[in-house]
Amino acid sequence: MLQIDQREALARYEEERAEERRRRQERERELWERITAAAPFALTVRTDARSVLDDPLRHAAAAIDLLTGGRRQHPAGRALCEGITHTHLMPLSEPVDAHATCHRCVHAAAVARPADGPEPPTKKERRELERVEAGAVFTVEHTEGPEIRDTSEQSRSPGGDQGRKVTAVMNRLHARGWVTPDAEATDSLRGGHGRRWNLTSLGAAALALPAVPRWVEATPSAPPQREVPTPR
Ligand SMILES: [Zn+2]
Repeated sequence: MLQIDQREALARYEEERAEERRRRQERERELWERITAAAPFALTVRTDARSVLDDPLRHAAAAIDLLTGGRRQHPAGRALCEGITHTHLMPLSEPVDAHATCHRCVHAAAVARPADGPEPPTKKERRELERVEAGAVFTVEHTEGPEIRDTSEQSRSPGGDQGRKVTAVMNRLHARGWVTPDAEATDSLRGGHGRRWNLTSLGAAALALPAVPRWVEATPSAPPQREVPTPR
């Protein structure tokens, strides 16, 4: 009877493996749908046209040039996982009706921006822009000269009761044309007096750019786990 038991065990093992694979594919598909829905550009899914595999890796490509990170370029019509420095370019198939499975392509799709579009604010810049939008940032006069303070928050540094000091970051945002101070002083949230900072139209547009990465909840499943045969 031992042989039958073994066969049953093997069958159950195979079933569980298949079930796990189905669940993983379902998670990947959901993530891909969320990314493509949020991306401000269209994406197609294509395979390596030279592949002879039954189920080749599926890459993502855009019809416009994209950038990720600082200045990493992703030329139009190429797999997103291929940098501009690749010399042997992958010939891509016609679009296929399925989600992308190349993890590097999926990641790039979630964080890329159009190359000719504005650079979105970083997480920290976004937070400061929101404080400006809320009317909390003022230039206040100090014994050592004017300082820019976020009056919605107190800090423990000297003069911290007037708010958190944001002079450096506000000057950077000003240099990018995103914020500008009032010419006249008004009352600040903390009862002090100062020139209020405001978003420019560029700043409002920057704040409206979708934050990256563009997915909620589902983070991409851990980098592809190679299927290692169970040692016996
Ligand atoms: Zn790829």
